[in-house]
Amino acid sequence: METELPDLPEFVPGTVWLAGAGPGDPALLSLAAWHGLRHADAVIYDALVDERVIALARDGAALEYAGKRGGKPSVDQQDISERLVALARAGKRVLRLKGGDPFVFGRGPQECAALIAAGIPFRIIPGITAGVGGLAYAGIPLTSRETNTAVTFITGHTAVGGIPDDLDWDALSRAAPVLVIYMGSRHMALIRDRLVASGRDPAEPVGIVSAATTPQQKVLTTTLAACAEDLAAAGLPAPMLIVVGRVVDYHATFRWFAP
Ligand code: SAH
Repeated sequence: METELPDLPEFVPGTVWLAGAGPGDPALLSLAAWHGLRHADAVIYDALVDERVIALARDGAALEYAGKRGGKPSVDQQDISERLVALARAGKRVLRLKGGDPFVFGRGPQECAALIAAGIPFRIIPGITAGVGGLAYAGIPLTSRETNTAVTFITGHTAVGGIPDDLDWDALSRAAPVLVIYMGSRHMALIRDRLVASGRDPAEPVGIVSAATTPQQKVLTTTLAACAEDLAAAGLPAPMLIVVGRVVDYHATFRWFAP
């Protein structure tokens, strides 16, 4: 039987779609993001968007890289927002494509606010965030009945470069059985020290997933005590997710993705 696609939203000229591209594997795109790629006049994408996803853009779409390098924030961000507004005002269908989900640690909110301020109609298309899709490809469940009833996503790196100082590490250590840390690899030792100092067991399992869902995916399992040294020794490339918690133990039996 021929399967019909559901009705997908019309990509109206002069609008911006702020879309998540997922963690890498193009198979994880939503139908809406894929539809956007097939109809966009301009695709403005970040460094973390997989090139196999960008390759799905329709022939003739203008492809513009808007990634940030070396943590230079605000000026570039302003430029990106202005670019989105200018393209929309020129009557283009603008697909703003971000890694993972656009509203998870991705400056999507700033771009959204800029579009609103400029009066540009927009749509938000969620994506599979790396902390969910990447862990699934590593065979690490976010929750399981045996281990945890909550999960906490944190960023290990703020706009000004350090680890977040507004985090209550004591409270996290006590109340967050599973921590999924984005952008944390540069500060692995510092994060570990904070967690152990606030009472976390140094023997607790840690999983580090590099280039999740891509052919380059690597998973390192270690402990809180050894994670920084093991990470340095393994020399894994970014991007990386760090998972702290007993769910990491499932990797040994649940691992299924062997690129
Ligand atoms: N909006 C994105 C996150 C952007 S922050 C999302 O929802 O996934 C960038 C961080 O995401 C990276 O430093 C890394 O921690 C994580 N990340 C994104 N893609 C990843 C991937 N394929 N593998 C591992 N980590 C990834």
